[in-house]
Amino acid sequence: MEALWLRDPMAILARGADGGVVVRDGRIVECVSASQQPRTPDVKVFDAREHVVVPGLINTHHHLYQTLTRAHPQAINKALFPWLQALYPVWANITAEALRDAVTVGLAELLLSGCTTAADHHYLFPRGLESAVDIEVDVANALGIRMTVLRGSMNLSEKDGGLPPDSVVQDADTILADCERVLSRYHDTNEGAQIQIALAPCSPFSVSMELMRSCAELAEQYDCRLHTHLAETADENEFCLAHYGCRPLELLENAGWLQPRTWLAHGIHFTDEECARLGHHRVGVCHCPTSNATLASGFCPTEVLQRHGAPIGLGVDGSASNDSSNMMEAIRHALMVNRLSRERADTFTHIDALEMATAGSATCLGRDDIGMIATGKQADLAMFKLDELRFAGAHDPLAALVLCGAHHADRVMVAGAWRVIDGAIPGLDIAALTKRQNKHARQLANS
Ligand SMILES: [Zn+2]
Repeated sequence: MEALWLRDPMAILARGADGGVVVRDGRIVECVSASQQPRTPDVKVFDAREHVVVPGLINTHHHLYQTLTRAHPQAINKALFPWLQALYPVWANITAEALRDAVTVGLAELLLSGCTTAADHHYLFPRGLESAVDIEVDVANALGIRMTVLRGSMNLSEKDGGLPPDSVVQDADTILADCERVLSRYHDTNEGAQIQIALAPCSPFSVSMELMRSCAELAEQYDCRLHTHLAETADENEFCLAHYGCRPLELLENAGWLQPRTWLAHGIHFTDEECARLGHHRVGVCHCPTSNATLASGFCPTEVLQRHGAPIGLGVDGSASNDSSNMMEAIRHALMVNRLSRERADTFTHIDALEMATAGSATCLGRDDIGMIATGKQADLAMFKLDELRFAGAHDPLAALVLCGAHHADRVMVAGAWRVIDGAIPGLDIAALTKRQNKHARQLANS
């Protein structure tokens, strides 16, 4: 396959690549120093002088189906538990057709913001939505975005002392059989994988300990990652103490989850000692600054976790607690929230925020082939132009992306293929998709 030289970018987040990168067969094959020519023969040239280039952004926590309930009147201005209880019955009526459009909407939004790999935590399997994972894989393949689909689960409903209603839970046997089915069918452990599966019981207040343990065993067997929500709110600590007589982290340990396969969403209400244990076991944490601010859940202790060696990735979270799916916005919010929460605000920079969303996120997903612009890595790139009004007068191009609030990538490449060109996704009719999604959302409101 012909090599492509992305020549002389305005700025690039990479070492020794000021002259750009050469891409061939889906990989970065060469980083070119400033004013140099590539050593790779017969390169085609793409003039990148107007582009700021960063590694493709990696979103490590989302609930794409929630794009159907953005700014929902029954949910806005509520804390986590009442917010969930208001929305579960609404979500129980989502159809397969609506899910397909909702997933397309969320993934398209992510792609257009520079995201090249998305992890979606789907734990909602009411009757009629049993093929949710298959639908997500199908949509991701059509858009060309890499995806880790998290086969979520809930098996404790209100009658068992859990939070969700009966209509959205499944029994453990059904869940585990489907976990095995989707792992066998879709989980690709090879370098450059487009689709991976992870196992993701929803949270300690919606699944049984047996199910957590069985998922850890399956993860070992199929070599996949484990994910759940943990320590998001103070309510959750109280629930665990009341029901299990221990804090959420002990619960995780008892289930066999304190290990490097695991990454957690939120991770806010940990003590320093718990952060040290997470770091010791290399458990990752997906920081979701926008969602945590919206639900007033608190600050993730990213500084303490990182000091102890826990990888920190970034996530937008579901579109009912962050009503937008924009990774650049999440990076900007990570900068702001970490400035507010860290002891020394000036130790957290725009580069740190960008690295959380790239190298940090890749580590959370257990991948060393993405998240960085370097020779041998996958050619996943997000490219922004600084020709919008919001950038007028900006100096440092990489700082401008974060500080001026870049929202929209001009070009996005996944595995060497252009998936966004001139700010649009080729072949996707956004107007028609938006119209269908609004129709599904209205039907859901009336159901
Ligand atoms: Zn979540």
